[in-house]
Amino acid sequence: MHRSGIQLSIALLALFTTATASSQTPPKFSRSDLAAAEALLERAQSDSTAYRLAESLTTEVGPRFSGSPGDRAAVAWAQEQMRRLGFENIHTQEVDVPQWVRGEAEFAVLEPWPQPMPALALGGTVGTRDAGIEAEAVMVKDLAALAELPTGAVKDRIVFFNNPIERRRDWVEYSRAVSVRGAGPSAASALGAVGVVIRSLSTSAQRFPHTGGSRQPQDVPRIPAVAISNPDADALARQFASSQTVRLRIKSTARDLPKQRSANVIGEIPGTDLAHEIVILGAHLDSWDVGVGAVDNASGVGIVLTAAHLIRAQGLKPRRTLRVVLFANEENGSAGSRAYAAAQEQTLANHVLGIEADYGAGPVWQFSTRVHPADVGVIDQMYRVLRPLKMDRGTNEAPGGADLSPLVARGMPILGPELDGTYYLDVHHTANDTMSQVDPAAIRQSAATYAVGVWLGAQYPGKWQRLEPKAPRR
Ligand code: ZN
Ligand code: ZN
Repeated sequence: MHRSGIQLSIALLALFTTATASSQTPPKFSRSDLAAAEALLERAQSDSTAYRLAESLTTEVGPRFSGSPGDRAAVAWAQEQMRRLGFENIHTQEVDVPQWVRGEAEFAVLEPWPQPMPALALGGTVGTRDAGIEAEAVMVKDLAALAELPTGAVKDRIVFFNNPIERRRDWVEYSRAVSVRGAGPSAASALGAVGVVIRSLSTSAQRFPHTGGSRQPQDVPRIPAVAISNPDADALARQFASSQTVRLRIKSTARDLPKQRSANVIGEIPGTDLAHEIVILGAHLDSWDVGVGAVDNASGVGIVLTAAHLIRAQGLKPRRTLRVVLFANEENGSAGSRAYAAAQEQTLANHVLGIEADYGAGPVWQFSTRVHPADVGVIDQMYRVLRPLKMDRGTNEAPGGADLSPLVARGMPILGPELDGTYYLDVHHTANDTMSQVDPAAIRQSAATYAVGVWLGAQYPGKWQRLEPKAPRR
């Protein structure tokens, strides 16, 4: 066949494919499912269960760091709430979690102008000897800037990562900067540094340092690493701006204790004719040790429990099974997420749709998803029900959360409502993350969005198509 013949065939094929695709109109929700969704929305808008749950978890349990007594109390609390809210098949999945103890952290500038600054150790880092460490310091913006330094530039020094983030509604800035916290200590250690201090991943001008997880690969020595607040990072940067030698001191008593038992807590609203297909709602139950984790993530726990509960309370019977999983150890290891995916290896394909709540209390400002292109039409139908909650339609590139990422990596589509993160990073991973930061109206709107999305997701008259596998989120 000559060239124009091939082109003609391709053109005909394209025409045929397009015609075939457009002749398959996407399945539509039944009128009764849509009417039920509207009634559910109405009910959810005057329901305060999500707020009350967050209040209960932060008050009656408080801090629930992996491996701590609070963690075990949270596992008991979650089972009790599931019973109270009408869940079935309530059970736990035991997981081993690290038991890292923060201890005390001290941080000070020694030269050119000495002063102490409040600091928090980064999760997973090691402590110092009793006297602490003192060394000359090098300031860089991020990992790329560190990699560009001349050989030996940070050997025996303390690296100061000074990477400010902008206040934004979405999570773009956090995603960009989180590598400094996650990989900064090990990257600096690999180049011979003896310690790390980072500018907190924070949008606050308050003098609260923000903790958070940092990865500790086996092949590089673990070094002490602490975070300081934005105003202190600015103050430290001014000392560097003097062009004089900056010397710092870090003292930390962080250490590891033997692993502990924790658990994922699982409960269901069983489905009817498609009960073997699972719509999974995920949120992590653990918090950091420094506070009660109201925004991160008692709010997410309240949102997913409430979404499933409201469907039951409304007398609705979902076709697919709604499974709420409250994951262990998201903050410093994700052992719960990995254990769940491993245990479900044979049934991963039954997880037909997911939704995760781990970005605060809301409100949802756009209804993003990550579904097969063939299923985007049905999301438009969902969105029409949600529009009274005042949100944008969103994209089909929702990043999703960490706990469901092993399932997303295997092709599970997700609803990814984007919660307003404008103030999220003011208090995230600090002692200041309390119920005073949770707006009752915002969390109510978020729970309503999740309830409607999950209800319609469970009723979808078509088959949720699986996606191309994607690398798990780190
Ligand atoms: Zn979280
Ligand atoms: Zn967190």
